[in-house]
Amino acid sequence: MAAGALSKPQLDGVERIIAVASGKGGVGKSTTAVNLAVALALKCKLRVGLLDADVYGPSIPLLMNLSGQPKIDSANKMIPLENYGVKCMSMGFLMEKDAPVVWRGPMVMSALEKLTRGVSWGKLDIMVVDMPPGTGDAQISVSQRLKLAGAVIVSTPQDIALLDARRGTNMFQKVHVPILGLIENMSYFICPGCGQSSHIFGHGGCETTAKEMQIDFLGKVPLDVHIRETSDEGKPIVASSANSDVAAVYNSIATRI
Ligand code: ADP
Repeated sequence: MAAGALSKPQLDGVERIIAVASGKGGVGKSTTAVNLAVALALKCKLRVGLLDADVYGPSIPLLMNLSGQPKIDSANKMIPLENYGVKCMSMGFLMEKDAPVVWRGPMVMSALEKLTRGVSWGKLDIMVVDMPPGTGDAQISVSQRLKLAGAVIVSTPQDIALLDARRGTNMFQKVHVPILGLIENMSYFICPGCGQSSHIFGHGGCETTAKEMQIDFLGKVPLDVHIRETSDEGKPIVASSANSDVAAVYNSIATRI
């Protein structure tokens, strides 16, 4: 048996668990996780779960337009809340709104245990995990506990974000989680007035980094006001504007992971 295999419990009935991660916060990790999960469900027709492991700042309830406490089934497990064909579980469903959370390492692990094994997920082809941002102990523990089949790294083209994305990639490689690829978020901006494209956070950084690190470059998601607006409304753009160019980008990435 491989070293560490015992500390990597498989979730019953879940075929693959993949993480969406970023080296730093605010680069669009949760937005990406949500749109990929919905694309996997609606476009790829898979049975999809979405686990909000970002216990420090759970945003899945808002992004998926879900609220309320999960019901409990006869086996005493929580029934995930569902929208856009995706079964979701988040600490946000279990906490008081706006309650301050001071999580320490072991608490993160017990929360995660609750959100995974304490949930009646049923049969899933894929579970997408919205990871906590960063590359510290919490992220390593989550990766090992969930027996991740792979990780998608989200970054902006900005140097500082890329540096953190490299750290994230190295962290996953250290714990033997395959990197499925790098997504460049907020890649470019198309002026709605003149149609000109500008590279607000820099140009080509993610593609170069992916090449240097010998990982796949999965695609470029533009900086787009509709992504922000639909996210705030809890209507992921792949569902609410299914025929848009942006939805096509997410759909194409979903088919590659
Ligand atoms: P993270 O999970 O990395 O902290 P979020 O997904 O919460 O980041 O995104 C941070 C903010 O940026 C949110 O307000 C979100 O709506 C916005 N955002 C993310 N990606 C894009 C994008 N491609 N275009 C416009 N706004 C975006």
